[in-house]
Amino acid sequence: MSESPNAGFATRCIHAGQNPDPSTGAIMTPVYMTSTFVQSSPGVFKDGYDYARSKNPTRTALEDNLAALEGARHAMTFSSGLAAMDCVLHQLRAGDHVVLSDDVYGGSFRQLDKVYRHIGLEVTRVDLTREGELAKALRPTTRLVWLETPSNPMLKVIDIGAMRAIVDAHAAKAAPGVGARDKALGPLGNPIERPLLLVDNTFASPYLQNPLAQGAHLVLHSCTKYIGGHSDLVAGALMTNDDALADRLRYVQNAVGAVPGAMDCFLMLRSTKTLHVRMQRHCDNALAIAQWLERHPKVEKVIYPGLPSHPQNDLAKRQMRAFGGMISVVIKGGLAPSRAMLERVKLFSLAESLGGVESLIEHPAIMTHASIPADARKILGIDDGLVRLSVGIEDVNDLKADLERALA
Ligand SMILES: *Cc1c(COP(=O)(O)O)cnc(C)c1O
Repeated sequence: MSESPNAGFATRCIHAGQNPDPSTGAIMTPVYMTSTFVQSSPGVFKDGYDYARSKNPTRTALEDNLAALEGARHAMTFSSGLAAMDCVLHQLRAGDHVVLSDDVYGGSFRQLDKVYRHIGLEVTRVDLTREGELAKALRPTTRLVWLETPSNPMLKVIDIGAMRAIVDAHAAKAAPGVGARDKALGPLGNPIERPLLLVDNTFASPYLQNPLAQGAHLVLHSCTKYIGGHSDLVAGALMTNDDALADRLRYVQNAVGAVPGAMDCFLMLRSTKTLHVRMQRHCDNALAIAQWLERHPKVEKVIYPGLPSHPQNDLAKRQMRAFGGMISVVIKGGLAPSRAMLERVKLFSLAESLGGVESLIEHPAIMTHASIPADARKILGIDDGLVRLSVGIEDVNDLKADLERALA
């Protein structure tokens, strides 16, 4: 069955990109475990399928599905979220400047700061929730503005439309054509001339917001999280509506080769069929737990975009359909009581990562954000009492009881 482009989100989750297998009519897309495809004559092959790094039918079905979920013309998938990031950064040249929002996934910061700064990209980190900060940070050489909203782990919400307007106003002033064209380089021979706005939409998932519709040029997902949703794979994706940009990204996807395997693509296709149902339960459970924790005597502060106490609660209500499954909590008393709580939980598992059906809990300063320098963590508010919850889709009363016991 094929869905219309105007179909609702749930219908797109289940049907977009999904067609019965042409050889048997199998309703589920087969796992095409093949590295190559037989040609009838040299260079004559079907639908672009010549070698599985370049194209694989299970991956094509997944990419079509993910594009539909973000309302995008193009989606590309990768072997991890950071491999998707690497594909974007390969579009830039030494001397190009990147503006990075200050509160991002530790591994994203590390890739820019340690790998790409080393080969000549310049990086500025700014708090994009503060008015005027982006305009101040942009330079004539800025080619990329990279942000997460909600961010990891402080759950800052950034106004995507406002960021795009600032990027456009800057691009109108800046002289284009700074870099030289080099035809021998293929698609990468055209320099990126204006800053691209990229939104890492991992925390929201396509169910809660679609950044391309709000002004982003590019969306990134760590599919390891909500899109995979079952803590059983590592993968990433990029989406865009810009045809020329998509050509360049696909070129690097194939030329560098960090593609996901067919089995992982199949698992993601199975997962996206329930994305809307899972996300709604993640949101319902997280809101109930955030409200409950905010009244808990052992808790100093709860950070959740759906609470009126959140500094960008109004923006979150405008920009997002609901507020997601992630909560950050500051436990009174700092490291010792928060460590004790993390050791005592039974239903929540103490683990890095997020977005799976099971609830996880972690300590950002020691675990996921250890690669952010200590002074930068302090400025961000990632202090020793900060605990991050990835609220799963279990019975909410069992989750509350587990936290209550661990806090007692
Ligand atoms: C996990 C994560 C990444 C990195 O993705 P991997 O799949 O682990 O490579 C990027 N951004 C955010 C917000 C993440 O949570």
